[in-house]
Amino acid sequence: MCCSGSETEERPIRTEYPVSNCARSPTMSTSSAAEPLTEMPSPSRTSALLANLSSVTSRISAATTGNPVRLVAVSKLKPASDILALHSPPTSHIHFGENYLQELLEKSKILPPEIRWHFIGGLQSNKCVTLARDVRGLWAVESVDTQKKASLLDKGWGERSNSQEGQQQEPLRVFVQVNTSGEESKSGVEPSNAVELCRFIQEKCPRLKLQGLMTIGAIARSKATTPETQNEDFVCLRETRDNVCQELGWEGEDKLELSMGMSEDFEGAIAMGSNEVRVGSTIFGARPPKGEAKVTS
Ligand SMILES: *Cc1c(COP(=O)(O)O)cnc(C)c1O
Repeated sequence: MCCSGSETEERPIRTEYPVSNCARSPTMSTSSAAEPLTEMPSPSRTSALLANLSSVTSRISAATTGNPVRLVAVSKLKPASDILALHSPPTSHIHFGENYLQELLEKSKILPPEIRWHFIGGLQSNKCVTLARDVRGLWAVESVDTQKKASLLDKGWGERSNSQEGQQQEPLRVFVQVNTSGEESKSGVEPSNAVELCRFIQEKCPRLKLQGLMTIGAIARSKATTPETQNEDFVCLRETRDNVCQELGWEGEDKLELSMGMSEDFEGAIAMGSNEVRVGSTIFGARPPKGEAKVTS
């Protein structure tokens, strides 16, 4: 892995994220009373994070030839103070990605409201309404793979407290996750079913905006990805995007974004036309096991 030695601090283990609903989380009982987080990480942790982010940003710029590429810093299982460090000046990074609803709910409550959150994790139908309704600063949900989940996100977005009767609210951006590698363990629609789901979102989910397509891809292929080799998952996602645009009658392929590329392969993904890369461990270091992670220290 590629983590520049930034993961040296030992952190005490105090809480686990609740596996199911919110019953065990102390911060869940008071929905809006959470104290804003002001605590920054140690100076050495802060400078390691800033150096890692800056190195990723320069690698992205070097790989980018066309439109600018959005960097989603994937902060799952990392403390909220790490996010605060990157969100504070001078970097003021605003796009962060999270995989677990409970963790995202807690972080979004204590971190600044300007942060744009991307939900990129496996999506369960029974959590879609809560996700869309309750996460402050939710900017995009990237793992939509069924009509049912799309409908429930649409419903939840309509239930947000800031949505006022008769007033136009910004739609919730969604990406359709495509299983480009054909691995059974991966979620996502089959490439051949992407058009149908995209059409459904477009026609039946008025509060959602179809922003693009997302893939994770096979690990073996990412490890083999260099700027020169063409990763088949990225080729597949691009073809799926072109097909969706054609079938929906959308002129110009850049109407739909491609969210592809992670720590191991983001430069190769950009070379293949990615509009958004999701980079975690290269910025934050290796992740702790899920049960040992905690939001605040
Ligand atoms: C964890 C995760 C990432 C980031 O992975 P890294 O290899 O740590 O960069 C990106 N996308 C998704 C969907 C993830 O779950």
